[in-house]
Amino acid sequence: ASRLVEGRALREDVWSVFTAVNLPPSCIHLGQGDMNFAPPDWAREGAEEALRSTKGNHYAHQKGLPRLRKAIQQYCGNRFHGRELDTESEILVTNGANEGEYATFTAFIEPGDEVIIFEPFYDAYLQGIIFNGGIPVYVPLHPSPGESGKLCKPAWTLDLDELRRSVTPRTKMIVLNTPHNPLGKVFTRTELEGIAELADKHNLLIMSDEVYEHLVYNGDHVRFASLPGMWERTITAGSAGKMFAGTGWRVGWVIGPPELILPVYATSMRIVLCANTPMQHAAAAGLEQADARGFFAKQREEYMERMAILSDAFERLGISYTRPEGGYFIMADIGNLRWPSDYPFPPNVQNRRRDFYASWFIAMEVGVSSIPVTDFYCDTSASIGENYLRFSFAKDLDTLRAAGERLQGLK
Ligand code: GLN
Repeated sequence: ASRLVEGRALREDVWSVFTAVNLPPSCIHLGQGDMNFAPPDWAREGAEEALRSTKGNHYAHQKGLPRLRKAIQQYCGNRFHGRELDTESEILVTNGANEGEYATFTAFIEPGDEVIIFEPFYDAYLQGIIFNGGIPVYVPLHPSPGESGKLCKPAWTLDLDELRRSVTPRTKMIVLNTPHNPLGKVFTRTELEGIAELADKHNLLIMSDEVYEHLVYNGDHVRFASLPGMWERTITAGSAGKMFAGTGWRVGWVIGPPELILPVYATSMRIVLCANTPMQHAAAAGLEQADARGFFAKQREEYMERMAILSDAFERLGISYTRPEGGYFIMADIGNLRWPSDYPFPPNVQNRRRDFYASWFIAMEVGVSSIPVTDFYCDTSASIGENYLRFSFAKDLDTLRAAGERLQGLK
C-alpha cells in the first residue's frame, strides 16, 4: 500500500472535490466532461431489447460481444493498417476506455519502468502508472500565444527535443492522447512522426488514448497506429460513451496487434471479467447505424455550435482561452482573477493550488462549475496549470448560453 500512501494517489481527486453534490444545486456544471443530453434512441434500443431477452442479461464473452466487436471492426474499416481488424485477436471490449487503459498499464508496466506522459495529462494515467509500479516521466506541452496575442491561445506545442531527452534505457511506454484532454489539442503529423521515430529507435510501446477521435474539427483524425511501423507497438483506446453520449454505459475498447491485445485481455478479465452486456448492445446498435444516419458528421456540427457559444463567453469576458481542435473542453486563463482574502473556501480547496480556489470561487459566485487543471500536472510544474480552468461544452445550447451569461458576472 505504500505506493498509494506516498505521493498524491490517495488525495481527494479533482473529480471528487468538484462533484455536483459539493456545489450549490443551482450551479451549471461545466466541470466533469459529461453530456446533459440523451444518447440517440436507436442506440438505446439496443440495450432495451437486450434487457427484454434472457441472454442479454447474462455474461458477455470476455473479449466483448461478438456483435460489438464486429461493429467496431466495421466502424474502423481499413483505417488502422490497410485491412479490416481481426475481431478475435485485435479488438478487446473494456469497461470504458478507462479500464482498457488501466489494464494496459497492468499488462505491460514492470516495477521501475518509466512511462512518458505529456503534461497536462488526463489524471488517471498517473495513478495507472504508479499503482502498477511504474515511474511517470513528464514532458510538457507549452502554451504559445495565438494570432491576437491576448485572446484565444490555440497552440500547445510539443518540443520533440525535450521528448528525446526524456527517453532513458528504462523507458517502456509513451502515453499519447489525441485529441487531448484537457487541451483540445490535436497532435500534428510532425509531432506524431517525431514520437513514432523515437518509439521505433528505442523499442517503446505507445498507449494512444483516442477517445475523442469522432470530434476533430479541422480535418481527419490521424490514428497514431496508422503511421508506418506503429501498428506493431501501439494500443489504441476508444469509447462508446463519448461517441454516443452514454458515459454511464461504461463501454470502451482497445485495439492493437494480437501480441499486445492478449496480455491486456488477460489483465482486463481479472479486473472486470467482462463488460456490461446490455450496454454493449447499445454501443453495437450505435455503431451499426451511425454511418447510415450521418450521425458523426451531424454530431460534430452540433459540438462546434456548442463550442462557439462557450468561446463567445470568454471572448466577451476578455480572457484568453484555448480554441480546441478536438474534443469538448476549453481551457480558460484565469490568471488575473482575484477574490477576497477572507473568502470562505472549504478545507479540501484550501490545501490546493490557485486554480482550485478560482474554480470554487466561480462556482459559488456566478454558479458555473469547472475543473481546475493542476491535478493534470506533476507538482513541480503545477505553477503553469494553476492559471487555467477547464470548461466542458458537452452540454445543450441553452445550458451553455445560460453559463455564458453567468460568467459575465466575473467582469
Ligand atoms: N473523462 C471525463 C473528463 O475528463 C471524466 C473524468 C472523470 O470523471 N474522472 O471529464
